[in-house]
Amino acid sequence: MLQQRTFRRGGIHPPDKKRLTSRQPITACANPPTAVIPFSQHLGAPANPLISKGDVVMAGQKIGESSGFISAHIHTPVGGEVKEITSIFIPAGFSVPAAVIAVDEESAFQEEPRSAQELDSLTPEEMHSRVQEAGVAGMGGAAFPAHVKFKIPKGKHAEYLIINGVECEPYLNADNRLMLEHAEELLIGTEWIRRMTGAGRVVIGIEANKPEALAVMREACGRLGFPFTLTKLKVQYPQGDEKQLIEAVTGREVPSGGLPIDIGAVVSNVGTTFAVYEALAKGKPLFERVVTVSGEAIKQPMNLRTAVGTPFRQLIEQAGGFSEEPMKIVAGGPMMGFAVYDLDTPVMKGTSGILALTKKQVNDAVQTACISCGRCVRACPMGLQPTRLYHLIDYGRYEDAKASYLLDCKECGCCSYSCPAKIHLVQGMRLGKRMLRNVSS
Ligand code: SF4
Ligand code: SF4
Repeated sequence: MLQQRTFRRGGIHPPDKKRLTSRQPITACANPPTAVIPFSQHLGAPANPLISKGDVVMAGQKIGESSGFISAHIHTPVGGEVKEITSIFIPAGFSVPAAVIAVDEESAFQEEPRSAQELDSLTPEEMHSRVQEAGVAGMGGAAFPAHVKFKIPKGKHAEYLIINGVECEPYLNADNRLMLEHAEELLIGTEWIRRMTGAGRVVIGIEANKPEALAVMREACGRLGFPFTLTKLKVQYPQGDEKQLIEAVTGREVPSGGLPIDIGAVVSNVGTTFAVYEALAKGKPLFERVVTVSGEAIKQPMNLRTAVGTPFRQLIEQAGGFSEEPMKIVAGGPMMGFAVYDLDTPVMKGTSGILALTKKQVNDAVQTACISCGRCVRACPMGLQPTRLYHLIDYGRYEDAKASYLLDCKECGCCSYSCPAKIHLVQGMRLGKRMLRNVSS
């Protein structure tokens, strides 16, 4: 029986805006004439370039070598000539090295399907190494290298594997469409992650605003005979955040500064699970993803399967262009995404959405003084005091902010959303965390 669960503390209910694309099937985005492929599309150290200007590369070729424990390989989705190795700004506000490739339309990746017998005989270690070789990184936003996450450290035990089908950010439907169109592959990918992690129980968490995805996944689960539990989660932002999802499913809280595995949980996003399936079943590296192109300023909102390195401009053109002048372009969802000022910004492994928002949707009200209403505190799912943290950061007291648990902030935006004075609280948290990183590096 399906249950409706949620986390205990804070949270908000923004309009979900899913209808703009929830019924749009995944369609292919054309390759660009020039692809710009960053060597850092994941959390951790950038990959080291394996190519130079003038090289000719093949679609699917590894072009960047993982350079540390927390790092991931980079593959090119397109073949062609390397025009230059340069550096670009990505939406998170960092400069990263990137390859500029003039695309050869004739070059296409050749899948290498593996037999069921071969796949059944793989050991967890062999699966890890194939996932690592494919450069799989978390596709829900943080882009944490998957082979690191699925390798359970000595002395720890994965009691739960939780598949994150929540997709709680407004507008986004990439994971929803994957569940509707690729349920079987997702369930097989889930079983392979279960084998890699040795998890005892598998729970697939889906928010209650995706009844079709719930029904399709439940039917496929029964048909394939997997003993997984499907859990219906209450529509409440940020239900899809790893810590909130774990709490909703298990009732356990990840301790401050701790990791999910500390309380016996491993979480894999739906997109990541699909990438694991493709890596193991087809030998396909992670070089493309589903991107929701939406927002009230987009003519024909859609879900596009897109090669990494494709400029935002191309996806927007494929979605019919702008219906009116957008006030803001966002990479990701409206709550946790980043404003984008250059339409040549390339899609990366973690780009779940591109939103074009009109003036009506953008909160451009003038910031006024704090009225000490406490709404930000009540909204914070991490139990923090956003107004206090904001003031500490404003006065440059970063260590004091750290002592008040600034590093537990998920940058979910619940505080900013709730604030009647329109104070840019989450931007303040991001600044404070960045300053702390700069001090310690
Ligand atoms: S952005 Fe940080 S401080 Fe604000 S509500 Fe989210 S977790 Fe709390
Ligand atoms: S919600 Fe805004 S106005 Fe209210 S206490 Fe927090 S910062 Fe101040």
